[in-house]
Amino acid sequence: MAKKNKQFEKRMSNIPVKNSKESTPEENVLIYKEGMTVAEVAAGMKKSIPSIVMKLMQVGIVANQNQTIDRETIELVAMEFGYELKDEVITDASRFDEITIEDDPKDLVSRPPVVTIMGHVDHGKTTLLDTIRNSRITSGEAGGITQHIGAYQVEKNHFAITFIDTPGHAAFTQMRARGAQITDIVILVVAADDGVMPQTEEAIAHAQAAGCPIIVAINKMDKPTANPDRVMEELTHFNLIPEAWGGDTIYVPISALKGTGVDQLLEMIQLTAEMKELKANPNRLAMGTVIEAQLDKGRGPIATFLVQNGTLRVGDVVVCGNTWGRIRTMEDDRNHRFTNVLPSTAVSVTGLASVPLAGDKFTVVADEKTARDIAQKRTYRAKDALESAKKATSLEELFQKNDPNRQKELNLIIKGDVQGSVEALRSALEKLNVEDLKVNIIRSTVGTITDTDVSLAEASHAIILGFNVRPMASVRNEASNKGVEIRLYNVIYDVLNDIESALKGMLDPVFEEVVIGQAEVRNLFKLSKVGTIAGCYVTDGVIERGSLVRILRDGVVVFEGKMASLRRFKDDVKEVKQGLECGITIENFNDIKENDIIEASVQKEIPRV
Ligand code: GDP
Repeated sequence: MAKKNKQFEKRMSNIPVKNSKESTPEENVLIYKEGMTVAEVAAGMKKSIPSIVMKLMQVGIVANQNQTIDRETIELVAMEFGYELKDEVITDASRFDEITIEDDPKDLVSRPPVVTIMGHVDHGKTTLLDTIRNSRITSGEAGGITQHIGAYQVEKNHFAITFIDTPGHAAFTQMRARGAQITDIVILVVAADDGVMPQTEEAIAHAQAAGCPIIVAINKMDKPTANPDRVMEELTHFNLIPEAWGGDTIYVPISALKGTGVDQLLEMIQLTAEMKELKANPNRLAMGTVIEAQLDKGRGPIATFLVQNGTLRVGDVVVCGNTWGRIRTMEDDRNHRFTNVLPSTAVSVTGLASVPLAGDKFTVVADEKTARDIAQKRTYRAKDALESAKKATSLEELFQKNDPNRQKELNLIIKGDVQGSVEALRSALEKLNVEDLKVNIIRSTVGTITDTDVSLAEASHAIILGFNVRPMASVRNEASNKGVEIRLYNVIYDVLNDIESALKGMLDPVFEEVVIGQAEVRNLFKLSKVGTIAGCYVTDGVIERGSLVRILRDGVVVFEGKMASLRRFKDDVKEVKQGLECGITIENFNDIKENDIIEASVQKEIPRV
């Protein structure tokens, strides 16, 4: 018993969980927090704001008290006042997902790599995952009954590899969007008979943005039409240059269907993993990420945990996202039960109080009370974040000019392709200052726009800004059903412009051209004063006065412009419907011919989605 306690204490020793209090401030130390303003820097050193502003001026920076300044500049100013700058140490255990615990290098041991397979649809991801799963060497259970838990481990020559078995990059991106980086190596599957396709490119972009090494598996080599050289040539445009051509990308020709080359692929994964020196400390409380989770009718909440550090044991108390629990059972995809599991292992666990979200982080804590407190605190914080956000639907509605009830705060969710652009946008938007209005960024992450973002936007009445990302159609639909506005951009300047105009209540509505009708030219009347009047018959829809017009001659557009007049008999009319005759003149265009078709369209305001 005593031994167990000691072991537990050792695991506990390097995790700040219980009753952590802010330590008393040290003399002449300024604690640096991200996004510090001039006023906060002044307060942190108990100096007056003007004295800081002056110091900044001396180094050529003109800033007011609400402006944020970067770390380097703060360090400089702090030094001037004889202060040492130290990074904020988060000791609040309820923010465990933001805490990284540095392990002593001597406690670290090798851990298996975590691999995600990505690539274009039909290029063979699922087949490869199945083939690898069935190739388990040591188990002797190939073909045995497996359950889908979102990840599995294989062992080859005593080297274990964990595969995330949700193919495609949706899951990968979703995880990353939630700040969870779980993949060490990406296998990019490209069919040798098809080459680089749109999702191949997307997968490369995601993997490269995450800084994950890519191993290319050229699949379907058994096909007579296989052309691996073409695949390699195409991929060189994405900086994936084969070793044979002087680069450092590993290419493995395989047939996922026949199983050829798969052993070599596993060896290459091992090689890459060894080069990366992936390590973890098994002698501490476990922490990791939820791969997937659902509610099981009989067994309650079930979550697949990927243990990323430490050892997870049955009986451990965990906090997970905003929920908590005591681990009751742990199983792998072959229904094997475990009492403890090491880093890089994925197990489905039972015992949680409620269902967490994929991408939630989990950590083991000392006892149930701590867990419950942390979970409660996190739940309150999440609720607060939502409640503090007031009603918002679209930029236009929000900032209608002269509306006395208009909002004073604009909630935004920023999603972008790479960390750099997300951060640039965030800081630029935060600096926007229009009268008494405020931009409130409730989430800014790398990744595409997902259902989760839409739900968050709905709950917090926020607008989603996508930068160089495109949501899937299903997400767009979800957003339009929920009345959530998504705006997509690829130029930062445009975002700032739009948001600033919106804040000023000046946002221009977006128009779309809608064809409303067609008329056929039957006779022509040339009047010296008016020009050519086309005597027309409306064949379709309706022609409205002032419409935009297109003149089609034998199906070809010969002119685009604006209608000058619309008449029936001698009278100017507002519109002429299908089946009626009318006279039309067109601004700056007299070269109308009989049998020409006049297509009329109008600009309709469209909701921005
Ligand atoms: P995914 O959409 O990327 O998961 O692709 P699948 O694994 O579902 O494979 C798509 C199709 O390609 C299926 O009909 C597979 O049988 C076939 N396929 C996959 N790998 C190979 C291969 O190595 N050779 C051949 N000839 N067909 C393959």
